Parts: sequence; structure tokens; C-alpha cells
Amino acid sequence: MGLDAAVRCRFWEEGRTRPCPFPQRIQLGTDLDLLELDLPWEGNEEMHRQFDRWRWHCCAHENMWLANERISNWSGVRAFQQALRSAGEARFSTLLAATPMASARAATQVDLDPMAPAPAPVTFREQKRRVRPSAKVD
Ligand SMILES: [Zn+2]
Repeated sequence: MGLDAAVRCRFWEEGRTRPCPFPQRIQLGTDLDLLELDLPWEGNEEMHRQFDRWRWHCCAHENMWLANERISNWSGVRAFQQALRSAGEARFSTLLAATPMASARAATQVDLDPMAPAPAPVTFREQKRRVRPSAKVD
């Protein structure tokens, strides 16, 4: 399983997107804060397709992402954190604080055991994407 880091733009919150075809049906998704419809896929397939097309092109940012980068897997994140600590934890304290480990700072056994279950990421998401059965990708 991989890890992505993503930042969605705030054009929706600022009222700067093109008009949404279903503004009263928008909700924040559970996968980070990607906007989605509050309707089940089943029975609303065409609305979801329209909404996905809107989201992809509603502002200057493709699919509303300011940034969306593949980071690594958990082993890679741990190796990166270890490299930062080896180079000087004080020098990279801001970067270390922003990595997923920061959300589990109190769980120090996780720091010592790279095989321990990973904490819930705060600003990172696992790269296990929901795939709709007949979703069309533009
Ligand atoms: Zn945008």
C-alpha cells in the first residue's frame, strides 16, 4: 500500500468554481477532503459522472488538487524519517513534524518498531482508491 500527500484547493469554499450541477448534494468525502456527492453510486450513476466531470474542470486546478504527489509506502516514510533524524533532527524538525509519524508522536514504540501498525495519517492518505464500477475517466 502506498501513501499520497494531497492538498485540495479552496476555490469551492471561496465561491470561485464554475457552478456545480448539484450544489445542494455536495459533501466532503472521507478520502481526505475531496468533494463528492452525498448520493449512493447505485441509481445515481449519471449524476456522479456529471459531478466528476465538473470537479475535474471546475477551477484552474485539475480535479481541484493544488498538489497530489505519490510519496512512498510506509517503509519508505520510515526510512525517510530515519534519514532526517540521522542528518539532525533539530535541523529538520518542521519537516519531521509534518510527516505521518507526527500524529503518533506519543506512541513512541511505533518510532522504534518499523513493523508496528502505522498511525492514522493526518495530512497523508493511503493510495487505495475507490473505483466505481463504470466510472469514466476524462
Ligand atoms: Zn481549484
